[in-house]
Amino acid sequence: MSLEFPHRPNRHRGLLIVYTGNGKGKTTASLGLALRAIGQGFRVCVVQFIKGAMRYGELKTARLLPNFEFIRTGAGFTWTRTPREHREALRRGWAIARDKVSSGDYDLVILDEINNALAIEGFPIDDVLPLEEVLETVASRPPHVHVVMTGRDAHPRVIEMADLVTRMEAEKHPYDEGRRALRGIEF
Ligand code: ATP
Ligand code: MG
Repeated sequence: MSLEFPHRPNRHRGLLIVYTGNGKGKTTASLGLALRAIGQGFRVCVVQFIKGAMRYGELKTARLLPNFEFIRTGAGFTWTRTPREHREALRRGWAIARDKVSSGDYDLVILDEINNALAIEGFPIDDVLPLEEVLETVASRPPHVHVVMTGRDAHPRVIEMADLVTRMEAEKHPYDEGRRALRGIEF
């Protein structure tokens, strides 16, 4: 299958793209971008923070696509795990993310939910996911690598560094009417 998607590296300087805000669409926008990039012969890696055991549709689909690596590093919802478990997950996740961004082996690296992770206030994260190191890693990445950072509450310094920032605005969401998460739409 990979023969139909020969690697065509990105020859331009890679962008830092941020999808943030409270409206729905941050993760799905990044997955849409992945779909587009894979078709153009990019090698794509998603490193997902925080999200845990749910059986997301995108995980199943990702296995079918060439040049698409999907790595989940999250411990799950905050109320089902201890801060210690979350901290360990963040430490592991960041080690992986740092490698993927720096390696140059990918044309697009999506750090899903990393903005939320950087905004955690319930327990200390500075030593397991240091903002300065995140910024430095992104700034010093190989020039061809596009990076996407998704999640609510993107840090001002991340926004400042970004080339492209889209803020999803929540105007209506069925959750507001008490509807449950829908298969195929939310996961
Ligand atoms: P999606 O993965 O659907 O693109 P997202 O990445 O923009 O959503 P997250 O902050 O990662 O949103 O939220 C995860 C879950 O919260 C998703 O199931 C999403 O549908 C839901 N959600 C997103 N925006 C809202 C909102 N404004 N009100 C209620 N729930 C929301
Ligand atoms: Mg998301």
